[in-house]
Amino acid sequence: MNIIKNNWTKEEIIAIYNKPMMDLLYEAATIHRTNHNPNVVQVSTLLSIKTGGCPEDCGYCPQAARYHADIETNDLMSVQQVKAQALRAKSSGSSRVCMGAAWRNVKDGPEFEQVLEMVRTINKLDMEVCCTLGMITENQARRLAEAGLYAYNHNLDSSEEYYKEVISTRGYEDRLETIANVRKTNVTVCSGGIIGMGESIEDRAGMLVALASLDPQPESVPINALVAVEGTPLENQKPVEIWDMLRMVATTRIVMPKTQVRLSAGRLQMTREGQAMCFFAGANSIFSGDKLLTTPNPNANDDIKMFELLGLIPQKPFIKKMQPQTVEAEDSVYQALGEKPRWTRPEHKIERNIEAAVTKK
Ligand code: SF4
Repeated sequence: MNIIKNNWTKEEIIAIYNKPMMDLLYEAATIHRTNHNPNVVQVSTLLSIKTGGCPEDCGYCPQAARYHADIETNDLMSVQQVKAQALRAKSSGSSRVCMGAAWRNVKDGPEFEQVLEMVRTINKLDMEVCCTLGMITENQARRLAEAGLYAYNHNLDSSEEYYKEVISTRGYEDRLETIANVRKTNVTVCSGGIIGMGESIEDRAGMLVALASLDPQPESVPINALVAVEGTPLENQKPVEIWDMLRMVATTRIVMPKTQVRLSAGRLQMTREGQAMCFFAGANSIFSGDKLLTTPNPNANDDIKMFELLGLIPQKPFIKKMQPQTVEAEDSVYQALGEKPRWTRPEHKIERNIEAAVTKK
């Protein structure tokens, strides 16, 4: 039960996913209790530090410039703004701040230097700092690690096969390469995906195979339910049923016993009972705050009430791994290399993405 298995097959995972619900929940909850305190749930805050105007074509994302979804775009926030928001998050129980920027990949230069300063600033607030900035090189990962980054998020989104139905501007191998670059440092890996994009159970299992095969497995796996946003190619997708979410959370817990499983986007569509069942099945983190990047999320007070109701305790920072040390910019060993990495541009055609981009012009 405690053994980490990195060679799951898709068939094995599908068999787990399709178990009778009560058997599935019991098995997942048992593994969860063996590896984690079931009454402790981490509260994380997701901050959009640069919003919208992204050149990518992710079919679910209102931040892709080509879809003209109705969102407020913002340039990179200042370090002071980020610090103020992090302090607010800390006072409402968050132990982790995840900063997201709508970039294809990180480019060396003043904006990245500003992000490094944000990382240093939040780490000094004794909070876990996570970044999700798109694709990064090994040197950029090392610079983030040196600044005190605790985790880097880079989602696989779906199976390799279904990924091509959602995104055409980069390849699955780019995702894996960024994760491998992060793994060369002390920064922990956060990588998960989205359900409800039209994928099959085989695709969900395929994504879990890809994640569980990473050695070591990701320390953190967010499971998102698609929030279908008007204007995006996936605007007409049906809401994810709680039963699908439960099966996905439970299966993730079983195949990655030690991982922090994050109940991420889509919580607003879930009842408290549904969320409670997800915690029982192995989810041990939520994102707090009115917005998850650009989509609505339950407000912090509602979450505090839910925690009281369920007797849940917010997780303290750094209980899974020691706080990284921050190296100041002037003492940095790793300098910007000004690399121009060749991330792929497969540019295969996804009709619904093209239609959404054209009709909104
Ligand atoms: S998911 Fe990220 S990379 Fe994709 S369009 Fe949105 S902001 Fe850009």
